[in-house]
Amino acid sequence: MWFFTDEHKLVRQSTEEFAQSVLAPKIDHLDETEGFDRDYFRQMAELGLLGITVPEEYGGTDMGCVAATITMEELGAVDASTALSYLAHTILFVNNLATNGSDAQKKRYLPKSISGEWIGGMAMTEPGAGSDALAMRANAVRRGDRYILNGTKMFITNAVMGDVFYVYARTGEGKKDISTFIVEKDFPGFRMGRKLKKMGMRASPTGELIFENCEVPAENLVGREGDSLKHMLKNLDIERITISGISLGIARASVQAAVKYAKERTQFGKPIAEFQMIQRMIVDGLAAYEASAAYVYNAAKMWDEGRLDARGSRGLGAKVKLVSARMATKVALDAIQVLGGYGYTKEFPVERYMRDAKLMEIGAGTNEMLRVIVARELFGD
Ligand SMILES: Cc1cc2nc3c(=O)[nH]c(=O)nc-3n(C[C@H](O)[C@H](O)[C@H](O)COP(=O)(O)OP(=O)(O)OC[C@H]3O[C@@H](n4cnc5c(N)ncnc54)[C@H](O)[C@@H]3O)c2cc1C
Repeated sequence: MWFFTDEHKLVRQSTEEFAQSVLAPKIDHLDETEGFDRDYFRQMAELGLLGITVPEEYGGTDMGCVAATITMEELGAVDASTALSYLAHTILFVNNLATNGSDAQKKRYLPKSISGEWIGGMAMTEPGAGSDALAMRANAVRRGDRYILNGTKMFITNAVMGDVFYVYARTGEGKKDISTFIVEKDFPGFRMGRKLKKMGMRASPTGELIFENCEVPAENLVGREGDSLKHMLKNLDIERITISGISLGIARASVQAAVKYAKERTQFGKPIAEFQMIQRMIVDGLAAYEASAAYVYNAAKMWDEGRLDARGSRGLGAKVKLVSARMATKVALDAIQVLGGYGYTKEFPVERYMRDAKLMEIGAGTNEMLRVIVARELFGD
């Protein structure tokens, strides 16, 4: 993008080098076994990636939303699972806490999270409350100097191996009485539920969190009681912009794999790259990737420059995620088509790209819910 700074270029280069040298050799095995390598986080910490949106006074590198989206793209181009776990940690836990937490909470939790010692996540979704997040039933009641938290969270990225979670729960009777709590894995009454087996993003653990009379110190309430709805929505806006970087990475890798294969594969006495129907799939994919990249990075730049009010960021976040996620699935599917039978096998990575891309149309708001948000903008509630 014309507005990328030297700092942005450097972060892209160092993330790409890390992804190629560390993630690439292992992703097929981790995808196959649904494994996870905790050490990745320590290595990303050394590159300054874990506190990428956090002010320097709290140990972050304070590079903003554009830089965070660049890292998502570079990780996503090689290993979308690690990109997703990185997003859950860096944006959904670290950034949310840095934006909404008290000075004491930031001092307690950010250093360990930014150094990669602790891995974090965010818990909003429940078994009965997905798109309709306000239907959440997890609840917390104050008892003296602590809150007693009960409920189950579902589909939580970095569950199973996570150390600390940013948890939303109901603290009153009203639909909007939602509060946020920082919950450490060793708090009494908190345990991990089952780990989910998935079609894609298999090297990013997803699971349940179970709270049974979980005791949370009152100082771990983030902000004021019952006042989290605004934060929750704003946090989703930056999540939707940055997660779109993963869609960009998957699409770019898909186009690159298709180009390489089309030059090498010969049928009817010539490389399949000479067939116009093959050229069409690849060229359409490249153009769609570049158009999405312009849209996504423009949104990230507007976020960094504070040009988006609450309404603007809600609509733009929804649109860029919708467009980029649909684009990534289509481009990955076409890459499989370009590779023919081999594209359908695990000999080549394009089938993984397609499995991973599909999540982008579901997590952080399904395509349908994003359309609902934009339709509300157009037609009112
Ligand atoms: C791999 C993975 C990682 C995730 N990570 C996290 C995480 O870290 N933290 C977290 O809190 N959540 C996480 N999620 C949850 C994710 O955000 C939800 O899956 C998503 O919001 C959809 O909710 P749901 O799955 O309950 O689907 P539902 O809400 O039950 O939707 C089912 C279908 O109905 C459609 N639908 C629902 N309402 C409407 C409507 N009003 N109009 C039209 N169509 C509608 C949906 O679009 C969808 O097609 C993750 C999910 C996955 C799969």
